[in-house]
Amino acid sequence: MNILPLPAFTDNYIWLIEENGKATAIDPGDASVVNNYLLEKNLRLENILITHHHYDHTGGVEQLKKSYECNVYGPYDSPFNGVEIKLKENDEISIHGFSFKIIEVPGHTLDHIAYHSEEQNVLFCGDTLFSGGCGRIFEGTPNQMYESLSKLSILDKSTKIYCTHEYTQSNLDFAVKVEPGNDDLVEYKSKIDKKRMNDEISLPTNLELEKNINPFLRSHVAEIKKNIKDFAKLDDPSELETFTAVRSLKDSS
Ligand SMILES: [Zn+2]
Repeated sequence: MNILPLPAFTDNYIWLIEENGKATAIDPGDASVVNNYLLEKNLRLENILITHHHYDHTGGVEQLKKSYECNVYGPYDSPFNGVEIKLKENDEISIHGFSFKIIEVPGHTLDHIAYHSEEQNVLFCGDTLFSGGCGRIFEGTPNQMYESLSKLSILDKSTKIYCTHEYTQSNLDFAVKVEPGNDDLVEYKSKIDKKRMNDEISLPTNLELEKNINPFLRSHVAEIKKNIKDFAKLDDPSELETFTAVRSLKDSS
């Protein structure tokens, strides 16, 4: 599967699947970014996949629909009213002949879904799992977000993760504060610092790496619990309490 990033706004990526002259845009917040690329490469937009209702993920849909006869897939119960094919947990769709299964991942928003292709080892997860971080919990509860991330973390470890924002560097700045003793993390941070200095993209990431470096997938780690204890005002925080405390520490930092 041919997947490429189209940078949009200040730090978004609109991912584009490109197959045999046809294309699928994931979370096209800005129509002109997608349109310019399609025209330049002479591609026809066949599908739009929406992960959640936020404007920076959906703002280009209406305009793109005027130029292309494309299908708009999205969450079943979404405040965004442009969804035509409404998707729920475990639904399967075929995109350019590739099968994608829907995983409901509420937390950042209540309507948030992820698109997973097991055969291609690809996950489009919007603003749920980021490299080195996770989305802010705007609509759901910490428990919902924790459960959603747990669902993603049991996918095959080689799964490539296409999230929507270039937040990796600032996420890792925070991650080393809660787990300074993680050598993999420290090493990865210096790699990303170099990449970003050269304006290189840090994505996609993969699940195996994230499980080693992402504090939001590491609530079981003793060093993180120890470092979060005082902030959380708990003697022996559970994994959910640790996750919740790490999230709220990041929100306030
Ligand atoms: Zn969002």
